[in-house]
Amino acid sequence: MAILGAKTFQNYIDGEWVDAASGETFESTSPANGDAIGVFPRSSAADVERAVAAAKHAYEDWRLVPAPKRGELLFRFAHLLSEQKEDLAQLMAHEMGKVLPEARGDVQEAIDMAYYMGGEGRRLFGQTTPSELRDKFNMSVRQPIGVVGVITPWNFPIAIPSWKMLPALVCGNTVVFKPATDTPTLGERFVELLVEAGVSAGVVNIVHGGGGEVGNALVQHPDVPVISLTGSRETGVEVTKTGADRLKHIHLELGGKNAIIVLDDANLDLAVDGIIWSAFGTSGQRCTAASRVIAHEAVYDKLVARLVAEAEKMQLGYGWEDETDVGPVINQAALDKIHSYTEIGKDEGATLLTGGEVASGNGLEKGYYYRPTVFGDVDPQMRIAQEEIFGPTTAVIKVRDVDQAIEVSNGIKYGLSSSIFTQDVNRAFRAMRDLKAGITYINAGTIGAEVHLPFGGVKDTGNGHREAGQAALDFFTEWKSIYVDYSGKLQKAQIDT
Ligand code: NAD
Repeated sequence: MAILGAKTFQNYIDGEWVDAASGETFESTSPANGDAIGVFPRSSAADVERAVAAAKHAYEDWRLVPAPKRGELLFRFAHLLSEQKEDLAQLMAHEMGKVLPEARGDVQEAIDMAYYMGGEGRRLFGQTTPSELRDKFNMSVRQPIGVVGVITPWNFPIAIPSWKMLPALVCGNTVVFKPATDTPTLGERFVELLVEAGVSAGVVNIVHGGGGEVGNALVQHPDVPVISLTGSRETGVEVTKTGADRLKHIHLELGGKNAIIVLDDANLDLAVDGIIWSAFGTSGQRCTAASRVIAHEAVYDKLVARLVAEAEKMQLGYGWEDETDVGPVINQAALDKIHSYTEIGKDEGATLLTGGEVASGNGLEKGYYYRPTVFGDVDPQMRIAQEEIFGPTTAVIKVRDVDQAIEVSNGIKYGLSSSIFTQDVNRAFRAMRDLKAGITYINAGTIGAEVHLPFGGVKDTGNGHREAGQAALDFFTEWKSIYVDYSGKLQKAQIDT
């Protein structure tokens, strides 16, 4: 595809493409080779103000559009995404850096979500219940809430906006969307396709700019009752504090420090494949990445040798080239952070088995590339085994049995994804019950969520909400209970028994 060069983009507010009120801009560049991708409005609270006013106004009509019709819009959107899948994937490989098969998967996830949530337009089930009184009818219905502020990271630039905006819309809410400043073009394309699908003015608005300005203004705004944020734990805490004064509904999907357990009876070929995919896919920049491997002592040496051999075979390069296994990380700050953890791991006494350095040569020095890195002899309390690195680094920890494996897996502040490789059904069920995480995989890595099941984590990964599946509807609606008394007289619940 033609990559965009220095094309200038705008915000989309109230059905029009407009510049930031300040007229200021910022540039998006490729993490792969520094190429210019586009120029975007550097917006501020004034732009958020306009977008929220538009979304608030549009809400009064959108909430009354029959939900099946709202769903049909999502079907059209799914169709457009499918038509544009290859172009979007190419753009993603350039703007965000992930390799093409994964970029296609990112877009596919949004297509799946659009069809799934489109179908919700004909469900959005409530409940009917018997009444304790004669001639009385009881039911509960889901109702939309209002303007939803959607704040997203750069690592799933099409999928994550879809997890938030599509359920919000089908439920009858309107949206102000702030994408990450590292991937604004993909956010922009997402909105362009919604507009093409027929979304009316004000129902979806996009305001580009930084978290401290645009994100913060959204969280503070009195007319935005709902915020859905995916990002780091630190941002989640800040947003929670900012929103507290107005008792906002805040949905947080935050970090992870996910582990794959490999027991002594595991199929090692499968485990190695699962670990390599989960630790180094998307250059380790997934909230569900396997940044820890917990290996039974009986298989530790063999597993570590296999992992190092596979990691060393991985080809670094541009995400759009067929032979590339691992693309760049997102920016210089990420590269510096990842390397600082290599130094931390060495200082802590872990053994650096492979990687641990910035990659260069063959044009890689124009971007941000880090060699797949494996640490061995890791103590579960070391910082490299506790803190989110968000890069292609994994820490292997040796344990003596399944009890210790589960204890180590749980011994972190996060609780997003978890995995165990074993052939023993008893130990697998034990893990399903006892791993403290929002997701557990048996004989698969830590990544691979499907859109019809709830997605999210326990402990510091979030605040109890989930996206995807039916659970998403709970966040983007509020329940109303309705009692219809057709007895013609005043009946008193709990009193007229
Ligand atoms: P980040 O927290 O820096 O930014 C996320 C978004 O929040 C961006 O759009 C940013 O501009 C905005 N933001 C930052 N400060 C803000 C503020 N004070 N108020 C409002 N908005 C603000 O995260 P990132 O670096 O873009 O993404 C990486 C993080 O996201 C990792 O911790 C990763 O684990 C997490 N993540 C979690 C999930 C999940 O589902 N649990 C999925 C993907 C990524």
